[in-house]
This record gives sequence, structure tokens and C-alpha cells, in this order.
Amino acid sequence: NSAPTAPEFYPSPWSAGGPDGWDDAYKRAHEFVSKLTVLEKVNLTTGTGNQADLCTGNTGSIPRLGLRKLCLQDGPVGVRYTDLNSAFPAGINAAATWSRALIRKRGEALGAEFRDKGVDVLLGPVVGPLGRDPAGGRNFESFGPDPMLAGVAVAQTVEGTQSAGVIASVKHYILNEQEHFRGGISSNIDDKTMHELYLWPFADAVRAGVGSVMCSYNKINNTYACENSYVLNHLLKNELGFQGFVVSDWGAQHSGALSALAGLDMTMPGDGVRNSTYGSYWGGALTEAVLSLAIPPFRMDDMAVRIMAAFYKVGRDTKQVDINYSSWTNETVGPQYWHSKTGNTTINKHVDVQGDHAGLIREIGAKSIVLLKNIGNALPLTRLANIAIIGEDAQDNPNGPNACVDRICNIGTLAMGWGSATAEFPYLVSPANALEKQASADDTVFTNVENNWDLGAARAAASNSSTAIVFVNANSGEGYQTLDGNFGDRKNLTLWNGGDELIAAVASVNPNTIVVIHSVGPVLIDHVKTHPNVTAILWAGLPGQESGNSLVDVLYGKVNPQGKTPFTWGKAAGDWGITTLINSSTPTPQQDFAEGSLIDYRYFDREDIEPSFEFGFGLSYTNFSYANLTIQSQDVGPYKPASGSTSAGPTFGGTNYDPVSALLPEGFEKVPGMIYPWINDTDISDETDIPYAAHNRSAQPILPAGGSPGGNPELYKVVYVITVDITNTGEVAGTEIPQLYLSLGGPAEPKVVLRGFDDVELQAGEKRTVAFNLTYRDLSNWDTESQDWKVTSYPKTVYVGASSRDLRLHAGIES
Ligand code: BGC
Repeated sequence: NSAPTAPEFYPSPWSAGGPDGWDDAYKRAHEFVSKLTVLEKVNLTTGTGNQADLCTGNTGSIPRLGLRKLCLQDGPVGVRYTDLNSAFPAGINAAATWSRALIRKRGEALGAEFRDKGVDVLLGPVVGPLGRDPAGGRNFESFGPDPMLAGVAVAQTVEGTQSAGVIASVKHYILNEQEHFRGGISSNIDDKTMHELYLWPFADAVRAGVGSVMCSYNKINNTYACENSYVLNHLLKNELGFQGFVVSDWGAQHSGALSALAGLDMTMPGDGVRNSTYGSYWGGALTEAVLSLAIPPFRMDDMAVRIMAAFYKVGRDTKQVDINYSSWTNETVGPQYWHSKTGNTTINKHVDVQGDHAGLIREIGAKSIVLLKNIGNALPLTRLANIAIIGEDAQDNPNGPNACVDRICNIGTLAMGWGSATAEFPYLVSPANALEKQASADDTVFTNVENNWDLGAARAAASNSSTAIVFVNANSGEGYQTLDGNFGDRKNLTLWNGGDELIAAVASVNPNTIVVIHSVGPVLIDHVKTHPNVTAILWAGLPGQESGNSLVDVLYGKVNPQGKTPFTWGKAAGDWGITTLINSSTPTPQQDFAEGSLIDYRYFDREDIEPSFEFGFGLSYTNFSYANLTIQSQDVGPYKPASGSTSAGPTFGGTNYDPVSALLPEGFEKVPGMIYPWINDTDISDETDIPYAAHNRSAQPILPAGGSPGGNPELYKVVYVITVDITNTGEVAGTEIPQLYLSLGGPAEPKVVLRGFDDVELQAGEKRTVAFNLTYRDLSNWDTESQDWKVTSYPKTVYVGASSRDLRLHAGIES
């Protein structure tokens, strides 16, 4: 059983423009780059070093042409490391709304906040990890383990963010599915699974015009992601037709010329090898590689063109404002160059970028809540005589919501995971706080038990109140820090801080026990689901700054819940069939993705495992009926593979390859520790081991599945339109999320896969016809032989229903 190796793919595809603004952006980038020297091109591609400047990541600048350094900033829930910003619901909450419109608005609002702080590149959204492993530490950053839901969500987020004038960097590309060993693990995968599962949402991001992709820390089939010519050159730039730039995750670069030839366009934070001649794999080292022709001119030019094309595509030339904050301190005056503590100036202007986003955050928080159980009309609450709130997860952190750096703690209510996907809370409305307010407006007697461990107090409060709400949580994060034995990845799927015992104590004395869960993903709560005294369960995920208000909106029926769980809740940790790899005797542990595309609900379905709550499940305060499934075939003709060839690799400007011109100009004073493009002397070393094919700039064949951003446009032609009538049969208005699942047929395929959904708001008694489109891509499997999408001859069935297991209507389609 030998370790797999990644195939090689050269040359690196050169950007050529494309639809939706790429053509224009490319033309302008081409004009700009034509004016550049080699040194200036290198400056665009190389980070100036960790904490060298104001942002999470900073490139060099081109002062001669008025281009300032580019600012790259975390992260997916808000502008990290500043003030007067918003803290948005996590990606997993955005997904749980199943609302394209809300996800889009979240992207727009995020984009506006980053823009107004002066950021050029927002380091998000996240679709890797996808969520193969339910314990994966960073799953909450992304949109759940279904590629279609993730694909829709990432596209809406990218479009929203970039419409505000900020480049989105979709990450982490690809297969960084666990935190343990993330810097060395090899995720081993086959071609079909890669296409049908993990690459799928990245294709949607590319089709949505994403300007940047961040390559991940791990290896794929034993080659590092950021020097993997197969995943960067072949899959991303050739097949998916990606026109923007690839940036490395922080420190994920492991080679100089090789990574450039494999498709990396920008390195971050830049100082990958501080003790080397140039302190970086690039910077001066890249200049040397270009001057020695180890890297051909067309590749260096393409790196610069891709960065500038993304810049123009989102309108940075007109929307850029000065960087008005420092990531490293909140002091108003301080060193601009943090690493060297030099350049004292006003670094924090404390610009308030929150706009009116609090309302949107509250709405997403409420509409992402998944009502998992509700018996005997326990919810919504009405005006109560008394209420008991129990549990630390309802409370304020006594030291403030930002007391723990990067949220590496679990004190008070959980509203954000930990790691780089964090932002400072401007404030955090705790559930206890919001519920107390509601209680005082209602004249409800309010009792609050803040401690999880005093079960006597919990029981006493619960037995004195007709309604008891117990708060529990489970956290995870990025693996640069361990919390309570959780190395980013969760060490188990149970509740934290004695949550199970707390629920049991309360439910033992109170027959109307309501459980609220703040968690990063599924927790094992079948005993809660089946407990007769637990009348309601709500999953509120990681709701961000408006947590308590969002929750009160749902508990009291001001918002009728519409959330559907974006992942499966198993009964036991083994139910998913995935084990986190936590022990290894080698620096490159091998993790075989042997389950193929059978993750999450696809695995539960295949193995016939009964979950506590299935993917797509969620209750409402009303009921919906489904009727009249129709399928209309659209006369679009057969799928046509893409063909033809590209133009030859173009070169732009910068023809002076005399090393003397690349020496440090006399009198220039370097900022200590900063990475620069200049070389030390004119004796350029020759690189060896350069793949010959990487230098080929002749026209290249277009792949059958390629030809345009997101792949062959034929893939997105609508082949069938499916309609169904949804009626609100209950007493109150509500929003249903009808879901379309498809059985692709074939012995090895998942029973069903999600292929459509909509959020349909209906008044009581109202009926609406909802339409879903099925494209070639939706109907196809990846055919490894033809290296293209292909509709198999297996009979296919369409299902429409309220969850992955509540499939109300179905019909066969001829293929
Ligand atoms: C994370 C990225 C993040 C970067 C910069 C890395 O450790 O994996 O998601 O954008 O750091 O903070």
C-alpha cells in the first residue's frame, strides 16, 4: 500500500480574461503590468513579513505608479484585530438560514466594513474544510459538508463582498479537513471525489468571480497544496478557469521557483524562511529566479497580471481608502512597522464601519436558529409568570466578550469559535441579558443560575419556575491553540462544561425544559431529544454580536424559525464513519479519504444509520404541505465538451534583465526585518530541478470541462425545471425551505444528493409554486476517463421535501 503521488501539470495557465468583468479587468491589468519592472512585479507578489505592517498580510508597493501596498485581512466573520467593527454570525449560521438573499447581504455588509477600514483582500469565505470530519476544528467557518449548499453560500458571499469593492479570498484550497498535523498531513483523494465533493464549491466561487484563492497548509496526495501543480495549475486555473491570484496560507509556502511554476501567485506573510539570504522564498529570491530564467517571463508577468486583474475587477482603483487601523495594537499612535517597532505615526483612526449591520446580524442570528424539537407547543413562549435561565452559556463573560485573545476560551455565552476566523465583538448581547429584558417588559419573575456545576441551584431554580431554559455549548477552533485538550479539532462530540449533567438535573424537576445549544457543529444529544421533560431544543450555532436578541426573537415568536441543520446530528461519535487522525510517527501522516463522497448524510443514508436529526431538518411554528411535483424538460440539446486552445502565454513589460538594475539603490534605508525585492549581488545562482514543461508558453488545449470561470459554461445549462406547490397549512406566517434531492443512480452513488433549495415565505394559508433548475452539472457524475462531467445511463429520481429524510414527493426523470 504505497503512498499516492500527485500528478504534475505544467505550464501554469496564464490569465486571459473572461466574462463578468474579467475581460475589462484583464485589459487594465495588462496595461498596468506592461509598465512594471521585474522588481515591481516581485513586490506585488511578496508579503513584507509577519507583522511587518498594519494588516494581517501586506505586500510591497509600486510608489512610482501610485500603487500602495496591498492589505490582506482576516477574516470570515468581520474585520479582525480592530475596533468599531461588527461581529457577524459564523459561516455555519449563514448556511443554516438557507437564504440566498441573507447570505448575499452578509457578504455585502462584510465587504463594506473591510473596504472602509482600507482592506484590499478579505481572507474568506471558507469552503475548506468542507466538514468531512464532524470534529474538524474549523468546520464552523464554512457552510457545512454539503457541496451544493456550500457552493451557493460561497457564491453569494463572494458576490456580496466583491460588490462592495473588496477582493474575496476563498480558502483553504484544498482538503485541509482537520487541524491536527495540518502543516504536514497528506489528504489522499481520488479524482472523482475531488470533483464531486471538495472542488465543487470552489468551482462556484470561481464562477462567482472570486478574485483570490488561498492554498492550504496540508499536502494533497503527498504534495503541498501551495506547490501542487495538479490542484493549482490543472484543476483551479485550467479546468475551473480561475482568473484571479493564488495566495498562500500563512507559512504554507515551502519552495521558491517551484511554487511559482506550480501556480502560486502571492506568498504570505512573506518571511517564510527568515534565516535564508532574502528571508523569504520570494522577494529577492524570486527576483533571482526570474533573472536567471528559472521562472520564465510569462509566468512572472502572469502572477502580477492576476493580482492586478482581481484589483480592477472589484474596483479597488476607485474604492480604496487609506488603511486606518493596525492589527497589532489599538493605541492611536504607534509603530506602523510593528515587527521592527519603527515608523511612529497615527495608526488607528478608529473608524466606525458598522453601519446599520446590527439589524442584519440579528436577523441572520434568528433565521439561522434551528428548532430541533418542540412538543406540546412549548414554543413560542407567551407572557410568562416566571422563567428560569440556567447555565454559563447564557451569561456575559465577566471580563468582557473580548477577554480572551482570538476567543481562545469558553467563558460565558458562545457566539464565535476560536482562531483566525474571529473579530472583536463591539458588544455581545448575551441570552441572559436579552431574556431578562423581555421578562421585565412582561413582568415575568426572572431567575438566573450562572454556574454549570451547582446542580442543586439549577434544580432549585428549575423547580420553582414553570419554564426552564438550559444553555449548553461545544466549541472548537484553529489548531494553533489548544483549549481544554481540544487541539482545534474537538476531542469528542459531547457538550462542554458538564452540559449533559446540567440538562439532566433541570429536566429531572421541570417538565417544561427548553434546551438551547451554541455549538460549532453536531453534539451528541439523543438523550436530550428523547427526554420527555425536554419540550424544546434549539440550535443557535455561533450567532455573533446579537446572540441574545436573535434568540429572544425566536423564543417569543417574533421570528418564526426557518433554519435547517446544515449537518447531520449522529447519536454516537462513530456514526459518521470518520476518525480524526491524532497520532502519527511520521511528519507526513497519510489520511486516505477512502469514504469517497460518502460523508455526512450521504454516509448515514448508505449505512442506514438513524441520526438524531438529519441534514436539512428544522421545525417551524407553522406547517407546510407539498403537492404537484412537475418536471419540464428544457430543450437544450446534448452537452458539448469545450474544445480549442488558448492563446500563447503573453509577456508584459519589464524587459530589463540586467542584474545590476536589481541591486538595492544607493541610499535606500530598509525597514529592519522587512522583505524587499532587491538582490544582494549580481552573481545570480542557477536553480536546478526546474520542470522543463513549466517553460512552455505555446498555446495549450482547452480541457473538455474547462474554458470559462467555473468550468465549461455548458455545465450550467438548465436541463430540467422542477416545480412544486408549497402551502402554509398552519395558523401563522412562516418560511419553508423546500429541498430538492437527486438520486443519480448507480451502485456506488449516495442515495440522494442535495441539488436545489429555496426559502419561501408564506402567510397562513398561502400557497406558492416553487421552481428549481437542474443543470448538466447537477445531473452528472465526474467521468475520470473522459475527464469530464457525464450524465450516466442509470435511472435518476428527483425528490422534493423538507429534509434529506423527509422526502415528500418524487418522480423519475429520463436521462
Ligand atoms: C489561517 C488562515 C488565516 C491566516 C492569516 C492562517 O493560520 O489558516 O485562515 O487567514 O492564518 O491569519
